[in-house]
Amino acid sequence: IPGLPSRAADAARLTVLSGPSGVGKGSVVAEIRRHHPSVWLSVSVTTRAPRPGEEHGKQYYFVSRDEYDAMVAAGELLEHAEFAGNGYGTPRRAVEERLAAGRPALLEIELQGARQVRAAMPEAQFVFLAPPSWDELVRRLVGRGTEDEDTIRRRLDAAVVELAAEKEFDVTIVNDNVGQAATELVELLSVPVR
Ligand code: 5GP
Repeated sequence: IPGLPSRAADAARLTVLSGPSGVGKGSVVAEIRRHHPSVWLSVSVTTRAPRPGEEHGKQYYFVSRDEYDAMVAAGELLEHAEFAGNGYGTPRRAVEERLAAGRPALLEIELQGARQVRAAMPEAQFVFLAPPSWDELVRRLVGRGTEDEDTIRRRLDAAVVELAAEKEFDVTIVNDNVGQAATELVELLSVPVR
């Protein structure tokens, strides 16, 4: 039907930001919340406890494991994944309403979730956030130096696998400077690469 946006056109308005753990996806999104408040960001559900300063409905909807399981079972999540012992997922309805209105939407999710979205909505735009270098990612993962050697080794092994996922994405943004990375991402929302 002419004039009526197709599902493919809707999905094309969706941008998914993902990347290795420790690369700074959360910082880029925090920067967007602060400096680009007109950008529409999906608010995920999670079973993890709020960190100091986090508010229900703002960074996340904090739900119990039972509530989360019920949402999964009811098909209310566009994608969902377990990460570090907690469940995370994207509420489907808010994203679909946004896209149906012809407006851009941004998700920030880990890699398993990004793959699920790609399977469901291949027309979406997939953005990989990359570390400036392997050494810098190691520095961020080793972090405060409070973890034991085994934990650090597991994280580094996972990082090698996660970095290889870059080739599955449409475009890469290097997180050298968080403000710059946020600006590049916001630019992609209005001028998609696909
Ligand atoms: P954090 O607990 O540090 O806020 O997030 C941990 C990880 O979960 C991050 O890699 C973040 O991108 C990911 N994440 C946050 N929300 C979602 C979601 O709705 N779905 C998926 N698959 N991952 C998410």
